[in-house]
Amino acid sequence: MKDAFQCWLDHHNTGPFGRAVLRWFRKHGRKLPWRESPDPYRVWVSEIMLQQTRVETVIAYYQRFLKRFPDVQSLAAAGIDEVLQLWEGLGYYRRARSLHAAARIVVQEYAGQVPLVPEDLLKLPGIGRYTAGAILSIANDQRQPILEGNTIRLHSRLVACQQDIDDAKTRNRLWSFADAIIPGKHAGDFNQALMDLGSTICKQSGPDCPNCPVVNFCAAFRRGSQHSIPRRNGRVIYEDLYETALIVQRRKKILVIQRGPDEWWSGLWDFPRVRLNQLSEKSPGFPTPGDSQLVRENLLEQFGLRGKSQPTGIQLKHAVTRYRITLECLAISDVSGRIKSGMNCKWQTPGQICQLALTTSARRIVKSLEQSRMGCM
Ligand code: SF4
Repeated sequence: MKDAFQCWLDHHNTGPFGRAVLRWFRKHGRKLPWRESPDPYRVWVSEIMLQQTRVETVIAYYQRFLKRFPDVQSLAAAGIDEVLQLWEGLGYYRRARSLHAAARIVVQEYAGQVPLVPEDLLKLPGIGRYTAGAILSIANDQRQPILEGNTIRLHSRLVACQQDIDDAKTRNRLWSFADAIIPGKHAGDFNQALMDLGSTICKQSGPDCPNCPVVNFCAAFRRGSQHSIPRRNGRVIYEDLYETALIVQRRKKILVIQRGPDEWWSGLWDFPRVRLNQLSEKSPGFPTPGDSQLVRENLLEQFGLRGKSQPTGIQLKHAVTRYRITLECLAISDVSGRIKSGMNCKWQTPGQICQLALTTSARRIVKSLEQSRMGCM
């Protein structure tokens, strides 16, 4: 039996569909800085920044990044600390490290020219099928498909797909559908148009069907099922984590630690943290955030330091992937002992800390400490 994708392809002509999409894009496409001169490097940087991040947030980061690193050579020549500093606040820092590593490969192996062959692009760190398709179609007008959140939703509704979009088989069908509908010319504009359509008209909640340029091609609209598509069967199960950030002070300096390669926010600086969920195995009952006895024990065990703890009244909530983190800050004073060897820590003045590439939560803590006018900041 034919599936929804094949039925759509059998009953619609992709020519008029493509023309309707491109007409709409020329009139309503978003004016974005990376669209002004879409060379492969600029498209690449913008696409990496846009992963998991809203367009409005990316614009200022993109402009700052391009000002400092206008081409692949300047990015490759920079140190990772500077790259991370410009990325600070954008999140998902692995993207910045991969972009930097890939820029060095492009300079060393491709004489500084971003390769415009899918197989070569896909070998670079951080470039998957979507990013390769975006670079090749937008910067080089190659007939390459793209598939991301907006186009998954748009295509699912166009064909009235009733399958779970997280299922691997459905994903493959979405990719082959995306490939089948690309016109022979203006593939880059077409792909960008689909993303814009998904983001501004065929929105997750409240698709604006009366103003949609492809309403006549939409099976979900005909059936009135646009609000229940796309379907997702797997539910994300969130896990709560309780952590304490330690503001360890000695001689007007504060201890900061650089996140290791296998940790979240690798390469960024943070205040030392203690995960209270892990400590619960050692003590009866679940520890409450800021359990100072446990925290002091951990400070000694993990860092080799002793000190007196004192609440700061600062508590933050933030989320990382499927974890919801409650982070409470404790100030540690009267510090004695020596930091264990092998710890990537340093003592910094408050002014120096502000200059570091910090995790977002560490930056929030710094701001809260300044506002509360605690002696340490
Ligand atoms: Fe989306 Fe509605 Fe357009 Fe269909 S008609 S593609 S549901 S906005």
